[in-house]
Amino acid sequence: LNSDSSGLTSADKEFENSIRPREIDDFSGQPQLIENLVIFIKAAKLRGEALDHILFHGPPGLGKTTLSRIVANELGVNIKETSGPVIEKPGDLAGLLTNLQPNDVLFIDEIHRLSTVVEEYLYAAMEDFRIDIMIDSGPNARSVQINLNPFTLVGATTRSGLLTAPLLSRFGIKSRLEYYQADTLRKIIERSASILQASISSDAAGEIARRSRGTPRIANGLLRRVRDFAQVLNDGVIDIGITQHALKALNVDEHGLDEMDNRILAVIIDKFKGGPVGITTIATAVGEEAGTIEEVYEPFLIQEGFLQRTPRGREVTAKAYEHLGRKPHTGHHP
Ligand code: ATP
Repeated sequence: LNSDSSGLTSADKEFENSIRPREIDDFSGQPQLIENLVIFIKAAKLRGEALDHILFHGPPGLGKTTLSRIVANELGVNIKETSGPVIEKPGDLAGLLTNLQPNDVLFIDEIHRLSTVVEEYLYAAMEDFRIDIMIDSGPNARSVQINLNPFTLVGATTRSGLLTAPLLSRFGIKSRLEYYQADTLRKIIERSASILQASISSDAAGEIARRSRGTPRIANGLLRRVRDFAQVLNDGVIDIGITQHALKALNVDEHGLDEMDNRILAVIIDKFKGGPVGITTIATAVGEEAGTIEEVYEPFLIQEGFLQRTPRGREVTAKAYEHLGRKPHTGHHP
C-alpha cells in the first residue's frame, strides 16, 4: 500500500475526498474560527483583493485541508496544493507562485518542514508579491525580480511551535483548530453516513463519536469499518448493537484514546508514580518528540481529564488510573 507521511493510503484519501465538505455550511464545529473566516472572506471579496495569508494549526485530522479548500471555494478562486517537504528548491517555489492567477490560494501542508532557503524566498513573496531568483552562477550570477499575482498563502501545521518568528509574523490570520465535541462529531458521522447511503441510528453515531478522539478523520474511519460489520452481519443497518460489537472487535478504546495516549499515561503511572514529571522525561520514556506530545497528544488528554499540568510537571488524574485499571499510588494522585 502506498502511503505518504500522513500514513494515509490512496484508498483512504479517496474515501476522505468523497465525504469531505466542500461548502462552509457543510462544515460542522470550530464555530469561532468559521464566524471570523466568513467575515474575512466577505471583506476580501468586497474589496476584490486577495485574502490575507492564513495559518491553520492544530492536531492531525481536524480539518485543515478541508477548510483550505472551502476558503478557496468561497472566494471563487483556484487552489494549488503542496507540502513543505515537496518544495525542495527556491525554483520549485517560483514555479508554483508564477502559475497562480490573481487572488488564488496556495496551500502548503506541513509548512513547518520547509527548508530554510525556501522559507526565506517565501517572505518577499508573501509580503510584496515578488520573488528574486538567482540566474546563473559564478561571475555571471545575477538576481532577477519577478512580480507575482496577489495570492493567499494558506499554511497548515500540526507543530506551530516549530515555525520561525519571521514566517509566523507574515500570516495575518492565525487559527487553531480544536478537538471536536462528541455532539458535533455525531452530526459529522450522520452526514458522512448519508453520503455513503448507510442507515445509522442516532445512538450508534453517538457511540462512534465518543470513541473518535475528538477527530473527524478518526470518526469517519471508524464509521467505514463499522459499516462493514453492519453490511455482513446486520443487513447494512448500523444500530447500537452492531456498533458496539464492531468497536469491540476492532479493539477501539472506551474513551477513544490511541496507543500513544495510553502509553503516555501508563509511563507516568508505572515509572513516575503518577507524576508530576517533566515533558522531556515523558518524551524520552515513550520515544516521541516532546513538542509532538505537547501539541498533539497532551491537549486531548487534558481536555478529557486524564492529565493535568502543574507547576512541577504533568500529573495523571484518578480517571487515568481507573482507565488503565491501575491502583493509585497513595499520596501522589489527586
Ligand atoms: P492533516 O493535517 O492530518 O492532513 P487535516 O486537519 O488537514 O489533517 P482533513 O484532511 O481536512 O484534516 O480532514 C480529515 C477528514 O475529516 C476529511 O475526510 C474531512 O472530510 C473530515 N472532516 C474534517 N473536519 C470536518 C468537519 N468539520 N466536518 C465534516 N467533516 C470533516
